[in-house]
This record gives sequence, C-alpha cells and structure tokens, in this order.
Amino acid sequence: MKKTVSFSKNSTNLFFHILTRCNLTCRHCYINIEQHGSNTLPIRTIESWLRVFAEGARAANVIFLGGEPTLHPELPAAIQKARHIGFNSITIDTNGYLFNDILLKVDPDDVDYFNFSLDGATKNLNDAIRGPGSYDRCVEGIRKAVSMGFATSLIYTVSNDNIHELADMVPVIAGLGIERFFIQVIGIRGKSAGDRPKKLQVLRTDWIRIIPGVAQKVAELGITATYPKVFLNHDEPFECAGRVAQNYFIFPNGRVYRCPLCEDFPLHSLVMKKNRPVKTGGINESHLFELSIPEGCVMNKIVQPENLSYDSDGIPKYKIACCMLKEEISGRR
Ligand code: SF4
Ligand code: SF4
Repeated sequence: MKKTVSFSKNSTNLFFHILTRCNLTCRHCYINIEQHGSNTLPIRTIESWLRVFAEGARAANVIFLGGEPTLHPELPAAIQKARHIGFNSITIDTNGYLFNDILLKVDPDDVDYFNFSLDGATKNLNDAIRGPGSYDRCVEGIRKAVSMGFATSLIYTVSNDNIHELADMVPVIAGLGIERFFIQVIGIRGKSAGDRPKKLQVLRTDWIRIIPGVAQKVAELGITATYPKVFLNHDEPFECAGRVAQNYFIFPNGRVYRCPLCEDFPLHSLVMKKNRPVKTGGINESHLFELSIPEGCVMNKIVQPENLSYDSDGIPKYKIACCMLKEEISGRR
C-alpha cells in the first residue's frame, strides 16, 4: 500500500555526523569540509550532544553518519550511549566497508538498521560514481550484516548519471536480504554543486515515469520502498519541515542545521556552545523557512532551481516539495 509520509511532528530526529572523514571520494559527496570541519568528535562530546537533543523529546531517533561513521573507533560506544539514553531507533549509514569490525562489536538488538549505499545496478556505473571496488565491498557488507542478524536497508541516490539503471536494481536487491529500499534524489550541494558539464537533477517527467514504478516492483519483493515526493501539483499542500518538524543535521564543527539544503552555507540556525545548541544571530535558515513562494521550497529555488519550470506567463508549472516529504510503499509478497 502506498502512503505519503509527512514529517513526524512528535519525534526528534538527529542526523549526527560524528566525523567527516571518509575512505571514498564519491563524485556527488555532499560533505563540504570548509563548512563542516574535519574533526572527529570524541565520545564524551557525542554523548553530551545525544543527551541534550534527547532532553524533553517524546521520542528521539538518531542516524549516525560521516563521512564514514564506521571509521570512528568509538562508534560502538556511541551506539551504547544512545541506547542507554533511550533513543527510540538507532541507524548507521555506511558505504559498506564496515571498518573497525563494527559488526562484531555491536549487537543486532542495539542497531535498528544499517543503511548501505549503491548508486548503480552494475559495478561499472556504481564504481564510476563511488570509486573502484565500492560495489563489491558494499554487497559483501550487506551479505555479512544480514547473515549476522542485522536489519539492513539500501539507499540509491538518483541523478541523471544513474537513473537509467534504477530499474535494474530490482533483480539486484531481490537476493540481498535487505528490508527497506530508499530512493533519494540528488541534492546540489558539496561536490555536486561544483562545476559539472551535465545537469544532475532529474526532470519531473522522468521522475514520474520511472521512480514510482520501480518502487512498486521493489515492494512486490516484500521490501518496503521509499522515495521523495519532489514534485507537487498546485492543489497539493506544501509544508516546510524546518517550520514543523524537529530535524537536526549536526556536524562535528558544532553547526546544526534544520534543513539539509542549507548545508553548503553558513545558514545554520543553531551552533553547539558548551555542549548546548544556541541560536545563531543574523539571517539564517529559519528566516527562509517563513517565506512563502509559488515554487514551494525556498531553498530549492535558491540553491538548485534547475528542477523548476515556468509557463509563458512566468507561473511555475508545479511546486517543489520539502526534500523530507516521502512516499512509502509497504513491502508485500
Ligand atoms: S561514502 Fe558518503 S561521505 Fe564518503 S565520499 Fe561517498 S558520499 Fe561522501
Ligand atoms: S527542503 Fe525546503 S521545505 Fe524542506 S526544510 Fe528545507 S527549506 Fe524547508
């Protein structure tokens, strides 16, 4: 069954970048060292920040990210701390290399999901985007995690570079043992915002023609498929998660954003000071969330307007949804 998953207004979600270092150099990597720093957070700081964001939250979820979070030798301790503090769910986003024997140091009961990433159905395409050998290492990592009883998901970030292989992912994932498949849309930030001869963002016609159909086929395998809505008709409501949801994108240099599209700029609305989030002064992302424009998402119009289209009177043909608005098709056989 397909449903639109609006942002949860009753839970707090931490997207916690505990370091920015990574063993890969993916060509669309969104990490921007100039903006996000290059330090690795010590476990004491990770624990303090987990505690401060969980305080008073009815339910809190954490996704540990990097860089590559398994490069952090104290990731197992961070997971234990999060469990002890009472986080509702704990997820690790990994490129699949699973450093520091992470699977041997954590228990399947302590990690809700390991999320892996592939960006092509073939080694050729995936490795061209994510680096030589990354396809095999990711598939091997998934198989190992599944065999040890961990719940796993797979993320495929769609751009004009790889949308042509998305449908071929259906047979690839059929035998992997994953429970969820996330289709993401490329964000024009980090490396993707650099000089690119080719337009990366997918046209609305291609998105509608390909994405829901692939998600449906994945669901028929018994795997829950999720994809961002991206395009809204004029009669569909627009809502900005920055105004109504408790999402925090935390970086090791102390910046805390409420919107991932802002991450290439010093527009963060909070900054960690003495282990507490403090509001930043001046113009920041929170001022942009208040603006209402016919194109929908304000940050989309500012940083990645190539996905917009206008009629001859200059009226937008559709709106762009908040990047956090998703469609979900439950897995059924
Ligand atoms: S695995 Fe993630 S953090 Fe590492 S280079 Fe690729 S996109 Fe960037
Ligand atoms: S993506 Fe757009 S709509 Fe969503 S939080 Fe950011 S500014 Fe708001």
